Amino acid sequence: MTATVGVPRETFPGERRVALTPKACEALAKAKLAVLLEHGAGIEAGFPDAEYERRGVRLATRAELFANCEIIVQARTPGSNPVQGISDIPLLRPGQILIGYGDPLTAHAENSAIAATGAIFFATELVPRTTRAQAMDALSSMASIAGYESVLMAASALPKLFPMMMTAAGTITPAKVLILGAGVAGLQAIATARRLGAVVSAYDLRSEVKEQIESLGAKFVVLDLDTGGGGGGGGYAKAMDEAFYKRQRELLTEVIREQDVVITTAAVPGRKAPILVTAAMAEAMAPGSVIVDIAAERGGNCELTHAGQTVLHNGITIIGPTNLPSRAPVHSSQMYATNLVNFLKLITKDGEVNLNMDDDIIRETMVTKGGQIVHPKLAPAVPLPTAPLHEAPREAPAK
Ligand code: NAD
Repeated sequence: MTATVGVPRETFPGERRVALTPKACEALAKAKLAVLLEHGAGIEAGFPDAEYERRGVRLATRAELFANCEIIVQARTPGSNPVQGISDIPLLRPGQILIGYGDPLTAHAENSAIAATGAIFFATELVPRTTRAQAMDALSSMASIAGYESVLMAASALPKLFPMMMTAAGTITPAKVLILGAGVAGLQAIATARRLGAVVSAYDLRSEVKEQIESLGAKFVVLDLDTGGGGGGGGYAKAMDEAFYKRQRELLTEVIREQDVVITTAAVPGRKAPILVTAAMAEAMAPGSVIVDIAAERGGNCELTHAGQTVLHNGITIIGPTNLPSRAPVHSSQMYATNLVNFLKLITKDGEVNLNMDDDIIRETMVTKGGQIVHPKLAPAVPLPTAPLHEAPREAPAK
């Protein structure tokens, strides 16, 4: 029997992605998997129902889809869609597979509720950053888009141009852009700002990224700080103590004062984002300067950031975007769907679900199974939620 993959419409406000594109459904058909799509699920991403039907996808209501599919794929599962996503939880059943973003390190109530249904939940955030898992690493795909979009936001908010221009009306000097955090999002932000002609510098506490920053044509900012290399494994940073962050802010103050644009992307997995830019540091920038804080959903790297808002403070614009991939839903859906197709091929064989628990990618991505939270980094036994889940809505992190 061929397993069927269900694609519900995304319900998080402003979410325009769809988990599978029509082309991805074609790839799944080759892997002997059928697809059921909720009516209109691809519309916001630019993929009408007819495009899917042409590729053999059947349309269904949400209830039919949850009832008839062995596997459900979403951009946002309830953990990263805490208000609207809750109504999907009673639709899950024992052994059914759910795949998508679910904020596994912090959305304990929602993920415990999923565990209680007996469903098997794979969180895309947990795909390891290894060579073999690269083609499934949705966090990196989406971070690339976020880095690109953050620069476009900064460029349109800045009352200056990015490139140098030599015109009969005089010479325009290029904008100065500083990127804090040169992970996946930061490196794409550097490349994008360079393409727009800005003079770019970047800083990261992982000294190993110096070469990558320089190969993109940016200057690596060196601070007189002992980071011990800064790496926490898997290409992620380790958390530092408050004395370190205080000293880092002191040293960054002079660097930031000179910039037209600062884009902050510093993240430490599972932790609140470190504060790299205080209110006083932002106030020292020239009026009209712009800060885009893409770590906004994790509390922000700038003290003045409000997630999902644009704040004007002393003439400085501070933007705290929370769903940058949704600004480019065609390509973010295309990349996300490709990551999912590769993951679906890993967990199926000849069109049937086949979970090989010896596989590190499967083990490290699995959050719930058999009524329990099974991930080694998360709680072993699941206390079921005592209060109705929708009573205290959280700000959902953007993916
Ligand atoms: P990443 O882990 O690849 O990169 C983060 C970088 O920050 C790492 O290179 C790390 O070394 C660096 N860093 C950590 N602490 C630092 C410090 N104190 N000083 C300097 N550098 C420091 O993460 P990523 O995949 O590039 O994502 C970056 C951020 O973008 C994350 O916060 C992620 O949640 C966010 N993001 C936001 C959106 C959105 O819509 N706003 C979308 C995707 C990703």
